[in-house]
Amino acid sequence: MRHVVHATIDLAQQEITVLQDLHFRNLSALPLTELLLLVEANRKEGSVTVQRVVAGDTPLRFTLEGRKLSVRLPRVLQPEDAMELTLAFRLDVPPFETDDFLGWLGYSQYQMNLGNWLPVVAPWGGGQWLVNETTALGEHSVQDTADWQVYVDIENAPDDVVLAGPGQVTEMENGRWQIELQAARDFSLSVGSGYQHRATELADGTILEVYSLNDAPDALAAAAWTLDVARRSMERFAALFGPIPFERLVVVEGDFPDGMEFSGLVFVSRDWFESWEGNPASYLTLITAHEVAHQWWYGSVGSDQAREPWLDEALATYSEYLLLESDFPDLLDWWWEWRVDRFAPGGHVDSDIYEFARRRDYINAVYLRGARMLHELRQDLGDDAFFGWLRRHAEQGAGNIVTEEDFWSLLSESQRAATLETRRRYLRDPGP
Ligand SMILES: [Zn+2]
Repeated sequence: MRHVVHATIDLAQQEITVLQDLHFRNLSALPLTELLLLVEANRKEGSVTVQRVVAGDTPLRFTLEGRKLSVRLPRVLQPEDAMELTLAFRLDVPPFETDDFLGWLGYSQYQMNLGNWLPVVAPWGGGQWLVNETTALGEHSVQDTADWQVYVDIENAPDDVVLAGPGQVTEMENGRWQIELQAARDFSLSVGSGYQHRATELADGTILEVYSLNDAPDALAAAAWTLDVARRSMERFAALFGPIPFERLVVVEGDFPDGMEFSGLVFVSRDWFESWEGNPASYLTLITAHEVAHQWWYGSVGSDQAREPWLDEALATYSEYLLLESDFPDLLDWWWEWRVDRFAPGGHVDSDIYEFARRRDYINAVYLRGARMLHELRQDLGDDAFFGWLRRHAEQGAGNIVTEEDFWSLLSESQRAATLETRRRYLRDPGP
């Protein structure tokens, strides 16, 4: 799957015009006459206006209903056959308020965040297109990896406009950028004016950058801390899980309450920047580590975030603890008490996102009890076997969409026996 995109962002009108070429292959086992594209940016209906879809010179019939864009193909596409389409559309970027958890797609007075703003081909699984319904409280996307080549023009921008993007970003003349990103689950950007910027390079050449919102001394110290934590996390997780999935990672301070992971770019909430008081025992430390861990558990190893959200979230949450183990060992007891136990978490770890009415209940069951379960599985197996298992998961899942079954299948028969009691205590379906 490969996308070549030309986008013009009008910062005065908060409007983006896009020409997107999609090169795709029929990955299903069936001949296709119709293609389903997932248009996450039309979650708020009316945000996306599709002007045309063409194959070469041939206009194609299409319908956009909510987040689903169905395109009638000009010929039957046999399994493994490839085709090329061009979409022309306009995106009216919605405003977001500072308490809006969906601020990763929208604009505030400080930034325009473009997470999941470009249509992608829906993945195919179990004989159908996989498009999960949305909920207010969890992520739901399940996406194949793709290569992206994106050209961005920014119009009506202030002089100090900054484009924070993943991958290889080249600033050309007059508000033009070129961005290349390979093997990514998504393509995201953040555009801001007056972003503070700092960067560092790891020993293996991986680049880390932080874009933050505020230039007050406290805020700059928080940004420096974020960069330090991101660096420590990358090094720790690379040592435990295997190679860093991307050559460059960008952390953006989000003007909204949540953290959010994308391929090569993550948001960490301004709430955690502003509440940081110089103490490592803070959400700024934990959420930064958490979002960095998602580069392995989401960016590289894909999963169904709606049906099996624990696969990436429990691992990302437990990764917070793994960073503390190596870098801040005095904080281990604090982490269990402050991050987990004080919420007295209940619920099955393998719940789906649709089972919960309240965000706290979802976090408790999937993230917090998920971390407890992983910690107990580690006791059951011993460190060598446990981390060997995670490394196999990272290696075999890289670039794929994996399931719970895949995860458990990486345990040997004796390891399954050793972990059965723990799995029974935490899971509705304890697996094999
Ligand atoms: Zn997460």
